[in-house]
Amino acid sequence: MSHESPRCIVIGGSVGGLAAALEIRRLTGADVAVYERSGAQLHARGAGVVMQPDVAWLLEQHGRAAEDVCVGLRERVRLRRDGEGLVQQALQLMTAWDTLYAALREQLADVCYRQESELVTLDQSGDEVQVEFADGYRTHADFLVAADGINSQCRAVLAGESRPTYAGYVAWRGLEAEADLPAEVVSELDGRFTLFHDDGMQFLCYLVPGADGSTDPGRRRVNWVWYINTPAVALPDVMRGTSGRAYASFVPAGDVNPQSQARALELAEQALPSLFSTLVERSSLFVQPVQDVTISRRVFGRCALVGDAAGTVRPHTAAGTAKAFADATLLARTLVGWDNSGALPVEALLDWERQRNSDTSVIAQMGLNLATNSALGVQNAPQLWSPG
Ligand SMILES: Cc1cc2nc3c(=O)[nH]c(=O)nc-3n(C[C@H](O)[C@H](O)[C@H](O)COP(=O)(O)OP(=O)(O)OC[C@H]3O[C@@H](n4cnc5c(N)ncnc54)[C@H](O)[C@@H]3O)c2cc1C
Repeated sequence: MSHESPRCIVIGGSVGGLAAALEIRRLTGADVAVYERSGAQLHARGAGVVMQPDVAWLLEQHGRAAEDVCVGLRERVRLRRDGEGLVQQALQLMTAWDTLYAALREQLADVCYRQESELVTLDQSGDEVQVEFADGYRTHADFLVAADGINSQCRAVLAGESRPTYAGYVAWRGLEAEADLPAEVVSELDGRFTLFHDDGMQFLCYLVPGADGSTDPGRRRVNWVWYINTPAVALPDVMRGTSGRAYASFVPAGDVNPQSQARALELAEQALPSLFSTLVERSSLFVQPVQDVTISRRVFGRCALVGDAAGTVRPHTAAGTAKAFADATLLARTLVGWDNSGALPVEALLDWERQRNSDTSVIAQMGLNLATNSALGVQNAPQLWSPG
């Protein structure tokens, strides 16, 4: 190839793809370009994100302190159904998908970030990777990072395997401006990780930065997640939008169908402490089924999978984003010293694959254990959501 620096294409411009682009550029000097399927508005699928060391470390490398993009918590409160709570001291930092996205994007302002670019084909021949997008645009590079999420098209092409499997429960979620919620609700939640669980369900809630990234009181948002055991037969109904669209992994706020929404509100009234049922009632709901992907390979010639494309961990570990960042950072390190005049560091890439597969399986097992403790997605567990 004629370029002086190696060229690297990143497919998927969410947090995993941006982390890969940043670190590969920083450590190898590669000419990086990011291709993202979504248009102007990326959906904030991640909503609240617990700040983890891998994420804090990467932000720091790029001049941002984790504290600047987080709301701080001081305690963890385990609520009973009657609203009484057991309080423990627990310092934690919480951020949000869009806050993190903005912090990473601003570091890549000078990099090609092409939206409305859905990868449809990927080929490898000679010393390069060629890709084509749904709009007919084609390009090529020396290396490709697939960060295209749980339903990765790159994984489908490269591995020809592993569609996500449904884990048996659904996450109902909300992300509301604190200013739009009753003051007494916000003051109960402020500074706390508040949770409630019962067999077959778990609810957790904490404040995160506002839509503009502000961490000032009055401008933050309340983030909540409510996991509910839901039989597979009921899933198509839950995932059907008001518009009739059948969503695979995410029903956005505003398109949850009224029947499912009414059932969620009814269940909230029956089963949750009133602090949480008020939140459900006051929120614009969105939905994510919990799904698993396990893979055995993540390196395919000049292509490597990172983030959810390279296997998922259950959300109870609060580690999905951190895993994507660690995949990206460690991948970039294996490429240090590589330039497009030399051969790819194949052995180092295979070591990276082994190490990341092993680390991921440890976190994935932790997630399964945490789900089992709340009887989420386990056999013979209470099914709280009856088919319509
Ligand atoms: C209910 C739930 C709660 C969670 N809570 C947390 C949490 O608190 N903390 C945490 O760390 N993690 C959490 N996670 C996990 C977290 O959301 C993911 O691990 C993380 O977003 C993975 O990032 P990613 O960049 O790999 O994939 P994604 O964020 O899914 O991004 C993939 C990107 O690729 C794009 N794309 C897809 N296909 C194509 C294509 N063909 N061409 C081009 N672009 C494409 C998509 O539009 C998207 O922007 C949660 C997950 C769930 C389900």
